[in-house]
Amino acid sequence: MSKSETGEKKSSAVAVVLPGDFLASPEEFLPGMNAYEQGDSVRATHAGRVEKDLSKREVAVRPAVVAKTLKVGDVVVGQVEAAMTSTAGVKISYLNGVESHASFPGTIFTRGERGGRGERRTYVKLADVVRARVGSTLNGMNQLSIDEPHLGVIAALCSVCGAPLPRGDGGRARCEQCGSMEERKFADDFGTQNIQP
Ligand SMILES: [Zn+2]
Repeated sequence: MSKSETGEKKSSAVAVVLPGDFLASPEEFLPGMNAYEQGDSVRATHAGRVEKDLSKREVAVRPAVVAKTLKVGDVVVGQVEAAMTSTAGVKISYLNGVESHASFPGTIFTRGERGGRGERRTYVKLADVVRARVGSTLNGMNQLSIDEPHLGVIAALCSVCGAPLPRGDGGRARCEQCGSMEERKFADDFGTQNIQP
């Protein structure tokens, strides 16, 4: 996945890249630590944060430290392994845009999410790929929130026929295969990412 899936918006000056990601053109910057030149681009050899040294005209990558635990505020991407009425279990595989082999468990509590007035909404379903923010790590439980426009389901399958769901308007998506209307709490870039559940 690319950095556009981390949930770290462009407002952040700190860019996270993955191996092979484009860093700059050789006319702009020379490859520094953990970077290499290939054709007309300078690319990363490691996952990490981009550092540009304007005086040396050098771009480098500071390798991502492999986190052992999640922190409040971290943005994670994972797959829903269990979906109940008010909670969902998520197997987290990306932490702040970097693939994590630790596969942290997380829990989304949907009861407190938007929707209100006691109406029952479907926020996530089994096998959905979700982007979420860590809200609490109290007692070793990684509590996740999807209550931001950029958070929520980023890829999903139709719960009736299993076809990948295309991007829809608002909080809904209509399956092109069987016509089923699917409700989720979609992230604002749902359906634009090149990933499948
Ligand atoms: Zn369908």
